[in-house]
Amino acid sequence: MLRHSTQMIHKNQFDAALVPHFRDIVKKIYSKMLPVQQKSAEILKEKLSNAAVWQTRTCPVCGCADNLPLSEGAYHYGVQVVQCEACGFSYSLKVLTETHDKWMYETNESFYEIYLQLKKEPVYKSLEQTKAQYIIQAASQFVHQKGHFLDVGSAVGSVISAAQANGWHATGVEVNPLFLKESKSKGLNVVSGFFPDALSAQYHAQFQAISMLDVLEHMVDPITFLESAKPFIAPDGVVLIQVPNLNSLYIQLDGEQNTNYCIGHWSYFTPESLNATLEKAGFENLFLETYISEFDKVQQFPESDIQYKVQQLTGQTLQHIDELSIDWLHEHLLGYKIFGVYKLKA
Ligand SMILES: [Zn+2]
Repeated sequence: MLRHSTQMIHKNQFDAALVPHFRDIVKKIYSKMLPVQQKSAEILKEKLSNAAVWQTRTCPVCGCADNLPLSEGAYHYGVQVVQCEACGFSYSLKVLTETHDKWMYETNESFYEIYLQLKKEPVYKSLEQTKAQYIIQAASQFVHQKGHFLDVGSAVGSVISAAQANGWHATGVEVNPLFLKESKSKGLNVVSGFFPDALSAQYHAQFQAISMLDVLEHMVDPITFLESAKPFIAPDGVVLIQVPNLNSLYIQLDGEQNTNYCIGHWSYFTPESLNATLEKAGFENLFLETYISEFDKVQQFPESDIQYKVQQLTGQTLQHIDELSIDWLHEHLLGYKIFGVYKLKA
């Protein structure tokens, strides 16, 4: 468990389910931007309709070619998610070629405009900043001394801002031009490009902490990606990882319509498979939890569906639906995001 003191941030402080009207605020921004979003989706669809930009693959964790459709229909927004029969890893059977995969992050500008607008909304921004502080708090607890911090996919720079405020030297890596412009306007130190290629060898063994928040699920080959990060980790350094939780009660209830099933999400993690992936890449787990409950969304499903999914996921039967709470979800690792801290294996 993380150590506690009076100034400690608790994970429920950045749980949107606990913020009154949060969903309405987000909905309002998205509805305003709907035409832009639709246009962006059309461009993406047209660009990716050519069969040559797609390739079929085997399990990225163990290489096995045998798999089962993850759920009945299995086609989510044009993405077929399957589960490896050998190791149980869930992944998108088809992936984009590297060029087209990268193209999505560099040029899908209208989508990022919406996203940037959302990130600037005060309530959203405040939650994001609190989460960033929580990440830095975790990093500070697992390192011997604060030094250099790297945030991979630093977006508008919330994590590196929080790291700086906490006494770290912080660097970000980001490829999106809008996000780069935004973080540079705040005076943050951000390198343009994709990690790790964007960082020269002068950064080797430099970072006491490297965070990758919502990054690993975008990787076609998460193990190779994690291995490529190793040279940049200082002796005794840690890696902090956040990914969507495929086993979260909300995603499980929402099923195939859940927006996590999308083009660009190539790997789908559970707490167990995240640890197995990191283990295979040469990392050892120090801490694992779930945060962000989506509890308000969970509560909108019929009681019988909730009961069934809880039973399926935990093997436990709820005596009464009131037993279910945000704390209960996290105790059973059924929260929306998985957060793990890892170090290099000795
Ligand atoms: Zn496998």
